[in-house]
Amino acid sequence: MKNIVLFIGPAGSGKTTLTASLGRWLWSKMLTPTAYINLDPGAESLPYKPDIDIRQYVTTEKVMREYGLGPNGALIKSIEIACSYLREIAERTSKLPAPYILVDTPGQMELFLFREFGPRFIREFKQVGYIIGVVILDPTLTRKAQDVTSLKLLSLIASLRLGVDVIPVINKADLVEGDFRLFKDNEYLRLKVRETGEGIIGEISERILELLDDYKLATRIPLLSATTGVGLEELYDMLHEIFCACGDLT
Ligand code: GDP
Repeated sequence: MKNIVLFIGPAGSGKTTLTASLGRWLWSKMLTPTAYINLDPGAESLPYKPDIDIRQYVTTEKVMREYGLGPNGALIKSIEIACSYLREIAERTSKLPAPYILVDTPGQMELFLFREFGPRFIREFKQVGYIIGVVILDPTLTRKAQDVTSLKLLSLIASLRLGVDVIPVINKADLVEGDFRLFKDNEYLRLKVRETGEGIIGEISERILELLDDYKLATRIPLLSATTGVGLEELYDMLHEIFCACGDLT
């Protein structure tokens, strides 16, 4: 069984860059060979060499031309077409020799998470290995304590939607100027939410944090930089812990 890491996040959060840098890190530091899968039919260039590429089956550009669609319509149509190749891609993945499979999902997160593509991917790939989602957020979107709560909630939504374990991460740590403790220290985060959250929003935010704490979900958020490599070891440790807990000692 493979260890499958699925990178999910809004456009520009760093899915593609992180896919490439974790792959390089796994090989250079852990001597673990990785295989890469690109699931973005709209990708133009990639910083890694995909072992399996959805663009072999469908590209957004070709769909635009063939169906006379604009960029958004073509993206949606190409994702629908891509869905029908997932079984074949899962079969090909199971034959790849690498134990770690890194999966770069479509640029627009909602196309993967809130359409059929994500759940179908999980159905097909469950036979291939154990899947962990890494939900990536850009720190420029998380400035306040409540934003960190939203990130944790987003990772819970991804977990509910896909039915897999999820690790929330903050990428672009090299660009973060602010309160790192918000990401690292739950009690501190709760305090800040209480201080800054007004009215009902503050209350909701606190209740969400309590709920996540009760179930030990999203308790640690690694701060990463896909460009400098900061935090990759911490992410690897968290992935390793979950993969090992499911019985696969890599
Ligand atoms: P995706 O749309 O989620 O796949 O995002 P990309 O991986 O294409 O990254 C979007 C932009 O953010 C690119 O210009 C990357 O070079 C940049 N980027 C990604 N990760 C980092 C990071 O850790 N630090 C900085 N400074 N830039 C990053």
